[in-house]
Amino acid sequence: MKELGYYNGRIGELSEMTVPMNDRACWFGDGVYDAEMVRNRRLFALDEHVDRFFRSAAALRIVMPVTKEELKKLLNELVQKTESGNLFAYYQVTRGGGPRNHVFPEGPGHLWVTLTPREVNEGKTPVDAVTAEDTRFFHCDIKTINLIPSVMASQKAKEAGCHECILYRPGGRITECSHSNIHILKDGVLRTAPTDHLILPGIARARMIGICGELQIPVDETPFSITDLMQADEVIATSSSNLCVRIKTVDGQAVGMKAPELYEAIRSAVLAQYYRETDIPAAR
Ligand code: PLP
Repeated sequence: MKELGYYNGRIGELSEMTVPMNDRACWFGDGVYDAEMVRNRRLFALDEHVDRFFRSAAALRIVMPVTKEELKKLLNELVQKTESGNLFAYYQVTRGGGPRNHVFPEGPGHLWVTLTPREVNEGKTPVDAVTAEDTRFFHCDIKTINLIPSVMASQKAKEAGCHECILYRPGGRITECSHSNIHILKDGVLRTAPTDHLILPGIARARMIGICGELQIPVDETPFSITDLMQADEVIATSSSNLCVRIKTVDGQAVGMKAPELYEAIRSAVLAQYYRETDIPAAR
């Protein structure tokens, strides 16, 4: 299969898979998801992603149809079925199906998985970004499939020829981006928003903080503003498929690009960890 779709036990070519119209994804966008890179048919940071997936589901009281171990087994089996072993693995659970009724239906959720070919962005080319007010709800730590503000922000970035849209709350606090976390380097310190309810606790973010620990780069998890961002030495976006990407302009103004060695030390360590953990194990 080129692109695989899975829905509640059915498996097929993604474009040919169908789902019932009464799935609560269709009525309310009532579900949560997670997503990660796969290289050499090895799911990167699988435990961290599955833990977050279950936390998101629990926060919305969605009943999981599988245990964590069953889900990991299923994902590992599905990645064997695609032509390419380098993939983006996306999975979501929706709150079951039934008549359109806001209150919860009985029973377990519906499990969806998609696998599509993708290579990680190595972050060697700096990118441009725009900004937009963060108009999302106040539970951004839950990875829900309801993503309209992020969709609008992403489109704004695309129409400006940019890679990402950086979001700020009234008052100027930077939260994150439409589909990435955002960080700055200033005077040798990595500054990143705290993992409160205004951001998604990104797995790539957590991995980068771990790498900074190894490289003895101090990390400051206090909120920063758009002014801090414009004056930063480097501006970095992270996500599962764009593990460490350098931003060179924001709203058309030059930013960052002033600590190339520090940025490169972080980027190369992040990428090295990804390649190491997704290498084909050496034959004995
Ligand atoms: N923030 C938002 C809003 C996201 O949608 C994502 C990824 O989907 C991230 C941050 C990055 O999270 P991760 O590093 O786990 O991919």
